[in-house]
Amino acid sequence: MPKIVVDEKFCKGCGLCFGVCPKDLIKAGPNVNAAGYHYAVQQREDECTGCKLCAIICPDSAIEVYK
Ligand code: SF4
Ligand code: SF4
Repeated sequence: MPKIVVDEKFCKGCGLCFGVCPKDLIKAGPNVNAAGYHYAVQQREDECTGCKLCAIICPDSAIEVYK
């Protein structure tokens, strides 16, 4: 099952990955990281196709995709 892992330390909550996910699986989470950003979290993990678009667009390389 494909899945993503967001490294909250590097996420600045810019939202680029929210818009690019074809399944609309990524949102700003309720918690903030040490820098004060609401970091990205994945919802409905079972729907992830592992397409990697989120990881590719992230300017801070905060997302890793596992297949
Ligand atoms: S694109 Fe990267 S930095 Fe921006 S919200 Fe998504 S994971 Fe965070
Ligand atoms: S790998 Fe593709 S389907 Fe999975 S969360 Fe990222 S953009 Fe969405």
